[in-house]
Amino acid sequence: MRILLIEDERKVASFIARALRENSYAVDVAETGEKGLEQAIDVTYDAILLDVRLPGMSGLEVCRELRQQGVEAPVLMLTARGLVEQRVAGLDAGADDYLAKPFALAELLARVRALVRRGFHSGNAKLRYADLSLDRHRRRATRGSEVIPLTAKEFALLELFLLHAPELVTRSEIIEHVWDCHFDSETNLVEVYINRLRQKIDEDRTAKLIHTVRGVGYRLGLPE
Ligand code: CA
Repeated sequence: MRILLIEDERKVASFIARALRENSYAVDVAETGEKGLEQAIDVTYDAILLDVRLPGMSGLEVCRELRQQGVEAPVLMLTARGLVEQRVAGLDAGADDYLAKPFALAELLARVRALVRRGFHSGNAKLRYADLSLDRHRRRATRGSEVIPLTAKEFALLELFLLHAPELVTRSEIIEHVWDCHFDSETNLVEVYINRLRQKIDEDRTAKLIHTVRGVGYRLGLPE
């Protein structure tokens, strides 16, 4: 599951992003409304967390523009406590829900889960490629008729691959989206996880789906 966080305060942004990543979401952060808008038009997100107070374009303007551009991802507005007008304006601008700052992390996570579920109902709950499918709602992977049990990290990794299949996913994209991006990129952690995933997805099968693109990254796709 992929989330876009539009928040200009770095501390707040990194705190929220870390919490989401710990819960197996892939997170992209945009520091301005303009950047966030561009990003949301380019990439399909399962939810967008949008701060109301941003420099330049405000959160309300961003939300309105997102809807005008046809972006349907559910939006959670982060508002200031007690400002009823702000909440109403947010909902009017096309937001799906709001959360007043400061908030408890547990509440943020609960709201995000609810939002993502809502998004799934509009159709992107299942990712598929060849005979491999990932049910993001039930958090279940299958290849053919066989159910493949995955850990949270393996799930996030496979999801990232499926969102890009059959295109390449670079090593740094994997580090950024599956982990909290701050471990030494020279370690072989990525390789270790890819190998585990390969064992689960490809072992004993004729059509291998996970391929190494030497020196760059990996791709999930049918053999070329
Ligand atoms: Ca702000």
